[in-house]
Amino acid sequence: MDKLLLPKTEVSKLVKSLQERFSVIAPVERKGQKVVFRRLESYEEPCLDLDYTLSILPPQKIGILPCWQELFGFKVESPNLLSETEGREQVVLFGVQITDLLALKRLDKIMESPVKDVPYWKVRERVIIMGVDYPAHPKAFQPPIEAKEGLFDLFLDDVGEDYQILIGSDKGRDVISRIPLRRTAESPEKGPPLVDPILADVEKLKSAVELSKDSKLWDEMAELCIGCGICTWVCPLCYCFDVCDKINIRGEGSRERVWDSCLLRDFARIGNDINFRESLRERFYNWYYHKFVRMPEEYGFLGCTGCGRCSAYCPAGINIKKNLVRLVKELEEKT
Ligand code: SF4
Ligand code: SF4
Repeated sequence: MDKLLLPKTEVSKLVKSLQERFSVIAPVERKGQKVVFRRLESYEEPCLDLDYTLSILPPQKIGILPCWQELFGFKVESPNLLSETEGREQVVLFGVQITDLLALKRLDKIMESPVKDVPYWKVRERVIIMGVDYPAHPKAFQPPIEAKEGLFDLFLDDVGEDYQILIGSDKGRDVISRIPLRRTAESPEKGPPLVDPILADVEKLKSAVELSKDSKLWDEMAELCIGCGICTWVCPLCYCFDVCDKINIRGEGSRERVWDSCLLRDFARIGNDINFRESLRERFYNWYYHKFVRMPEEYGFLGCTGCGRCSAYCPAGINIKKNLVRLVKELEEKT
């Protein structure tokens, strides 16, 4: 079958043609050395950065699960809802890297069961995912990915001068059908992906974290960590939220969902000022326990895809990969 190729120099044209039909969120801006994803406001604007290695936030936390989301509006004196907030636009998340694609597939499963998260799916169903092949960030530790297919609607695979377009769904096929592409019968050369073995053995990692409750590692981390929550907010597989009502002077209000973080002291604070995870040691261990023990038990996968953001943006310099390697070593010494 013919391969579809897009010269790298034509990517801006592709994005502009997407903008004619969709709202496009793409990696466009550097803050210092850091790339951010944001909604393109005009046709003139695209100044894409497709060589980025790690955006501050994963794109799904801009386009699907934002830090603030209005769920519905209400009037204090009326039993009826003023509005049920529903987006209407179709959105293309352009330039999603492979670890974020994997995280999004896992997030979809989490938001599907055991209880379907309706506000999430109202947005998610209107989003078209376009992945791009990027160079890995030094803090990333990508797990082996058995099949890229199923992670995206479209994927731009780097094959040198061109991107080879991989189609992952009917939605993707429809999007690309109106865009002129070069066809070739040749198979473009592509080297193997760089993968790290640490996330490959789910059972071993699960045991390493589960049996580590008494490890000195957690004491050391509690000394270093300042409990700021940044690691959870930049993580594509952290999704804790709080719900609050805002009411104005006219008695009109809105119910909103906002990000929360299990690393924050007040996260586990309940009535009577009881806090069931008072110490940073407990909260830090709980974060790993959820990702590396509970998620494999509940869903069969890890709550980490090795993107490296929590390590890259932690103000205390805590490195999750080093911690995981140490826990595995400690497990091997015990057994
Ligand atoms: S980003 Fe670093 S310092 Fe902040 S809560 Fe996470 S581990 Fe602790
Ligand atoms: S835990 Fe850290 S490395 Fe793993 S997916 Fe989250 S931010 Fe990325």
